[in-house]
Amino acid sequence: MCSDVGRLDREGSRRKQCESLSQIRTMTIIEQAVDVLQKAKKVVFFTGAGISAESGIPTYREKLSGIWAGYDPRDLETAKAFRENPPLIWGWYLWRRLRVAQAEPNAAHLAIPHMANSLRHVSVITQNIDDLHERAGSLNVVHLHGSLAMPKCFACHRPAAVPPDQSAVPVEGALVEPPRCQRCNGKMRPAVVWYGEDLPTQAWKAAVRLVKDCDLLISVGTSGIVMPAAGLPDLALASGASVIHVNKSDVAMGEDREFMLMGAAAEILPMLLERIEAGKTRGA
Ligand code: NAD
Repeated sequence: MCSDVGRLDREGSRRKQCESLSQIRTMTIIEQAVDVLQKAKKVVFFTGAGISAESGIPTYREKLSGIWAGYDPRDLETAKAFRENPPLIWGWYLWRRLRVAQAEPNAAHLAIPHMANSLRHVSVITQNIDDLHERAGSLNVVHLHGSLAMPKCFACHRPAAVPPDQSAVPVEGALVEPPRCQRCNGKMRPAVVWYGEDLPTQAWKAAVRLVKDCDLLISVGTSGIVMPAAGLPDLALASGASVIHVNKSDVAMGEDREFMLMGAAAEILPMLLERIEAGKTRGA
């Protein structure tokens, strides 16, 4: 028993040593990331579903409920699914619009526009279809995967607003017949990029231009799986920029000039902002 206690003590102190060593390593990475951010003149934020998670908008890995329970979201985000069952897909997107309308930008969205100043230009490229960056004060946000804001015609692609009588679907969702296009009578669909569809050309060109021209790309809350957007951090590295990842999981590729900050975006981005602000005060 005594030896067990002794072993436990030794294991406990080894664990403490490891924890403090890992804290030192974490501190060092944070300090390095702050230093890179402080020096950067052109910063690009590249965001994914994780940045909106703390605003209550589920990431793509979460299970669906209501009439969509049993569906994989990937099976709902296709033109084929819309052709087969337009009310199911249109109802799902109305529900997602409602979730976004009820959500508020969180501390991560809010920190981003505050990182810009007269010496540092900040841009935002997002894969998200919500408008939380805009509502947090970011300007000229590049939406690579479209937006929930304005639907378009499935046939002729003409944009049109959601009719007011459809703007409040029940929280658990409903099968809702999509409205018709005023011009060609085609069915309206969300103006988002579905699997198998091309990214909007203008948005993609703007994103590539910003990334090739930046000193620092900060990738926030994206699993980095869905191409071509997922290739942007690589493009930044290849163009000579540094990359900071902010994510609850380790998504770094192990390259030089890459910094992995593990944790919730709503904690890490305000912390980075506070540190660069503190550095500015000290430097003044
Ligand atoms: P994702 O759901 O694939 O990944 C979310 C990432 O955010 C994960 O890496 C997770 O670790 C991280 N994360 C979760 N909470 C976080 C928090 N609070 N703080 C920081 N990080 C957090 O989303 P994505 O990377 O944005 O996906 C990219 C695009 O791919 C999407 O825009 C979408 O178009 C498409 N996609 C669709 C589906 C689908 O099933 N329909 C699935 C995956 C991706």
